[in-house]
Amino acid sequence: MFKIALKPSSIKISITLPKISIDPDLCTGCGICAEICPFGIPQQNNNGKFVIYEPERCTECSACKRNCPAMAILLQERKGCGCLWDARARSKNPQSNSCCG
Ligand code: SF4
Ligand code: SF4
Repeated sequence: MFKIALKPSSIKISITLPKISIDPDLCTGCGICAEICPFGIPQQNNNGKFVIYEPERCTECSACKRNCPAMAILLQERKGCGCLWDARARSKNPQSNSCCG
């Protein structure tokens, strides 16, 4: 029989997380994220919840995260300019201008 003693400081676990994901426990299936994303990345699954489809296409603009009423979208916002943070309100008021670009 072998015994292996590990010191907590010697354990390193590397986990690669997707840059964006949706917490299925928090998502209500309202569809706002899909309405806002310019690339159609959030898509509804068979359970009525929304998932991130092809996360590699996400530009990390953060519009979906900032408009999700359930705060279900997990995104680090490393690059997001946030210019679409009020995209939902803007879509209802075509007179408003975009601030980016
Ligand atoms: S906006 Fe939020 S709660 Fe609504 S479908 Fe998207 S992730 Fe789910
Ligand atoms: S962060 Fe922007 S590009 Fe990425 S899924 Fe959300 S709205 Fe779409």
